[in-house]
Amino acid sequence: MTEDTQQTCRCACGATQFRVTGKPLFRMLCHCSICQRYNAADYADVVVYAAAGVELPPADAVTFDTYKPPPNVKRGKCAECEQAAVEVFDAPLFPKLTIVPFAMHTDTAGLPAASGHIFYDKRRADALDDLPKHKGFLRSQLAFGRQLLAARRPASG
Ligand SMILES: [Zn+2]
Ligand SMILES: [Zn+2]
Repeated sequence: MTEDTQQTCRCACGATQFRVTGKPLFRMLCHCSICQRYNAADYADVVVYAAAGVELPPADAVTFDTYKPPPNVKRGKCAECEQAAVEVFDAPLFPKLTIVPFAMHTDTAGLPAASGHIFYDKRRADALDDLPKHKGFLRSQLAFGRQLLAARRPASG
């Protein structure tokens, strides 16, 4: 039984704060080169929400950048400490999504476990876990889409 999450997301310096009111759809680890650069890390650990479930931070707190299309993701960093703060995903055929880096959450207890790795062919280091590892653009996009479908399907039982 998952209740709607209500928590504050906050960057390390505290200048960027926003509220999450919706239920997390799923969590993914992305090894694409854009995520590596944006997160200044080997891969992104992100939680995906329906756009309505996240109250975006004030525009002056976050610097948005579109690294390169596709996919149509605007990635925002804290204007002060440059921590990866929030990503706005608005692609054709997809519902509007907001992606929040795991590290931004102040209460991680209710967050889902990561469901898999995508763009694993771009990895800087092997992942020592049993999660599915999807390689290449198409397979990675499919894995993302499948997670999205599963998360939005009405729960049974
Ligand atoms: Zn990525
Ligand atoms: Zn900050």
